[in-house]
Amino acid sequence: MSNPLANELDAILATPAEEARTILTRLGVPASTLVSRGLACSSPITGEVIGHLAESTQADVEAAIARADSAFLEWRQVPAPRRGEFVRLLGEELRAAKSDLGRLVTIEAGKIVSEGQGEVQEMIDICDFAVGLSRQLHGLTVSTERPGHRMMETWHPIGVCGVITAFNFPVAVWSWNAALAFVCGNPVVWKPSEKTPLTALAVKALVERAGKRFGGIPQGLCEVLIGARAVGEALIDDERVALVSATGSTAMGRAAAPRLAKRFARAILELGGNNAAIVAPSADLDLALRAIAFAAIGTAGQRCTTLRRLIVHESVHDKLLSRLKKAYSGVRIGDPREPGVLVGPLIDDPAFKGMEHALSEARSSGGRVHGGGRALADRFPDAAYAHPALVEMPSQTGPMPRETFAPILYAVRYRDFDEAIAIHNDVGAGLSSSIFTTDLREAERFMSAAGSDCGIANVNIGPSGAEIGGAFGGEKETGGGREAGSDAWKSYMRRATNTVNFSSALPLAQGVSFDVEA
Ligand code: NAD
Repeated sequence: MSNPLANELDAILATPAEEARTILTRLGVPASTLVSRGLACSSPITGEVIGHLAESTQADVEAAIARADSAFLEWRQVPAPRRGEFVRLLGEELRAAKSDLGRLVTIEAGKIVSEGQGEVQEMIDICDFAVGLSRQLHGLTVSTERPGHRMMETWHPIGVCGVITAFNFPVAVWSWNAALAFVCGNPVVWKPSEKTPLTALAVKALVERAGKRFGGIPQGLCEVLIGARAVGEALIDDERVALVSATGSTAMGRAAAPRLAKRFARAILELGGNNAAIVAPSADLDLALRAIAFAAIGTAGQRCTTLRRLIVHESVHDKLLSRLKKAYSGVRIGDPREPGVLVGPLIDDPAFKGMEHALSEARSSGGRVHGGGRALADRFPDAAYAHPALVEMPSQTGPMPRETFAPILYAVRYRDFDEAIAIHNDVGAGLSSSIFTTDLREAERFMSAAGSDCGIANVNIGPSGAEIGGAFGGEKETGGGREAGSDAWKSYMRRATNTVNFSSALPLAQGVSFDVEA
């Protein structure tokens, strides 16, 4: 009988590159996909190169969009519940491949095993959601002032959807977009991050499996382009791409938004966050401590919803911070494939340098830095492991108002609640937020129009770890886009308002009279 523990240990002894290649083959990615030159795909666990991929040329981009454009003509005619059946099969493929694909996420993005698996679970969840949605793409019937008329809304597929994704959620973000786009009747052209293209190719192989079981899907329904910024720009600039959903830094959004606006393309922008938590005097500190640790240190501080700013009432500041420092010093950093490890590597060396730069700027601004610095340099000389840092700031200054994509948690004190809200909202980003309080008035105020200005506002849980049922996204420099649950599907469709006259008269709206002799 096989011993699962022994199997797990064997897998850990394999290098990330060896493991990745085995998983890719099992998931149906042909070995010939990895070539000797081109885009280098590496694992942040050791820094070793897994293989190279041929980058998409301008002609490849053109051809992929052309295939997607013809797939649209076919797919939009397929009844939505039938399109939902395809997404149901995709969900089944993802269920069957969860362990392998999650492991590949761990290897390519450096997440701990349970977070890699959780990312694939999120894909499964959005597929389930989209299957139900495929029978619910409903419009309103609206009362009309004209007798003998009916007015209603119908929703139609919008066209080719371009999806540009970031490295830190290499597969889930695609699925939030793609599962909805597919049931809404649209093909998807995906440009994954150049740092995590292998997981994208694995997903494409699973889409193909689902397509076969479906009885065939139009060629071009799911395209993947390999490359960096230039490939993203080609997708953004193509008139045939009706919608671009772009996830990444605010800098990326600033470059993408005007190009999309120039051709009036629909844009869903999911950009950077600088998420905060207010800890009020009445907070349950045991609960807050656990939530803060997960939100600030989890995924090595590389979630868009990572907790980056703590705004703590002066009466509980010292107590909370001394407990947090203890928690930080005990957290295990290491190969994210190893059981018990909570913090894996940063994605690459520039990310580590960015962290070092922010910490030095914080020191110059009067911050007291606890932690930080390189970890495990002897064991992993070519990787970028960092000790999470906790920084006591005199006020919200220096690097604190901007996002540094690394595990840095800044803490400032507040005296009264208005001041806490003002500090909270006084940054460019507006993604996620939370408050720890048992005071109903504070909790309600935080979620009210005069409270948090973010797209996500939580009470007594941290800002990270959203479920797919809610709409996900944020305001201000986060870009204003919404994906996943609630009514986010409407972005992937075009709305038509239809008025039908079933009388023999022709009354005009607003009492206008316009009689011609006929
Ligand atoms: P990034 O901006 O460097 O890259 C994101 C993607 O955009 C990549 O695929 C990249 O190739 C592409 N890209 C970059 N510049 C482009 C341009 N000018 N035109 C077209 N495409 C371009 O981001 P990253 O380092 O991969 O990810 C981290 C960032 O993403 C953080 O700021 C994080 O907060 C953000 N993020 C946001 C969300 C969200 O839902 N709001 C989710 C995940 C990550």
